[in-house]
Amino acid sequence: MISVAIDGPAGAGKSTLARKAAAQLGFIYVDTGALYRTVGLKFSKMGADTKLDCDISSVLADTTVDIRFVNGEQRVFLDGEDVSEEIRTPVASMMASAVSAKGEVRAFLLEMQRKLARENDVLMDGRDIGTVVLPNATVKIFLTASAEERARRRYDELISKGMTVTFKEVYDDMVQRDYNDSHREIAPLKQADDAVLADTTGLSPEESLQLILNIVKERI
Ligand code: C5P
Repeated sequence: MISVAIDGPAGAGKSTLARKAAAQLGFIYVDTGALYRTVGLKFSKMGADTKLDCDISSVLADTTVDIRFVNGEQRVFLDGEDVSEEIRTPVASMMASAVSAKGEVRAFLLEMQRKLARENDVLMDGRDIGTVVLPNATVKIFLTASAEERARRRYDELISKGMTVTFKEVYDDMVQRDYNDSHREIAPLKQADDAVLADTTGLSPEESLQLILNIVKERI
């Protein structure tokens, strides 16, 4: 099986680019951020905030997270309910970042991700795919862009979905999540030693896609 690991900070365009690249390569696209968002949503539905003052293990023992592919597109289910849209709100983003710092949560989601890569050719995106989840991935890419550009893209995406947010909220949220993700003790966001750096600042979506496809095709 072939596995392509794409890691990088929030808003680097990973999911859009990874989805398109996977379609062109004929691989399944696994968005691992959606799994952390789903777990974050569970805690948020239980009334927890980002301090997570609760017994994490017992909540997880009572939680099922499933990933299914409908017409090649990933859907995520929390306790049997499709939450693929609900996990996209700014609150769900912050909760995802909070739960993702917990070792119990990372362990809870690890095997599911590895199993997908054992059974399919995958293009998997996240924060720790090349460093922790798939250390032997066929190709590793670290995808990034400047914080302003990443916030601008995320802002445009949220506005196009009809959400009410300001650019400043999105930017501050982005910088805070970058900080949390790269400073946590467990599986922090960092470029794997053998990952190729792809910086898309100033590149169009089409140019960014070509960059990713070229990196992958050169190596497989
Ligand atoms: O990629 P996305 O922005 O949807 O991820 C939401 C959050 O999930 C990230 O801010 C990060 O804290 C966490 N995450 C993670 N490891 C991954 C994917 C996402 O910690 N592999």
